[in-house]
Amino acid sequence: MKTQNLFLNKLKFILPTGVMFALMAITACDTQNTTQQKNRHSNQTSDNIANHDEIDSHCSDLKYHWSQSYPIPLYFHESFPTEYIPIFKNAMARWESTLQQSLFTLQAEVIVSSVIPDPSDKKNVIYWITTTNTNLASSEQGRVEFSLNSINDQILEADMLINATFTNFQFFTDTPRTTNDVHLESLFIHELGHMLGLKHSTSETSVMKRRLKAKEQRINITSEDVSQFHCK
Ligand SMILES: [Zn+2]
Repeated sequence: MKTQNLFLNKLKFILPTGVMFALMAITACDTQNTTQQKNRHSNQTSDNIANHDEIDSHCSDLKYHWSQSYPIPLYFHESFPTEYIPIFKNAMARWESTLQQSLFTLQAEVIVSSVIPDPSDKKNVIYWITTTNTNLASSEQGRVEFSLNSINDQILEADMLINATFTNFQFFTDTPRTTNDVHLESLFIHELGHMLGLKHSTSETSVMKRRLKAKEQRINITSEDVSQFHCK
C-alpha cells in the first residue's frame, strides 16, 4: 500500500500540469488494491441500473468519459506476444458487436519503450508485463492506468498492463491446465471495459466485476455492461 502510494505521488509529479493520475485494476482478492481504489470506487452501484434516473445520478461512479471520440487508437508494446493478438482482437470484437459501434482501432506501430507504463506518451498502450519492477501486485491479473484531465476528469490516455509474471496464476486460452489458471480473453474483455472508461461493477454477471475467478470464462457482455457504457 505504502509503496503504491509513493509510486502514485511520483507519477503525479512527472505528469504535465493539469493532468492527474488514477488507477483501475482487476485483482484476485488483493486487499491492497481494494483499499487503494476506495476513492475512485466507493459508492459504486450497479444494483439497479435499469432505472435511468439512477443511472444519471451515479454516472460518475460508473464510468470515466474520454476526452476524444470513438474509436480509441490502441498500440501494442513490443512486450505483447503476437500469438495472443488474435485473442485480443476477439475481445475487442465482442465489445464492438455488443455495442454496435467501432470502439478501438489497432495501430500498426509497435511501441518500444523502457518506461512501463509511460503515462504521458499520449498513446494507449497494451503492455505484457513479465518483470516485477512495476507496481502490479503478484495477485493482480491486470490493470488499466489512466491519465485524467484534472479539471473535468476526462480520460486523456489509458494504458493496459497484463500481469504475466505468473507468481500466483498463469493464463489459459482454451482449457485450464491448473486450478489457478486465468482465462486470457475474459481478462482482455474486462480490461478493454476499463479502456472504455467503465469502472468495476458489483453485479455477479458483469464482465466488469472486480475479480475474475480462476478458470472462469466471463466473455458475455451483459445488458448492465451496455447500460454502464451508455452512462452520460
Ligand atoms: Zn478491473
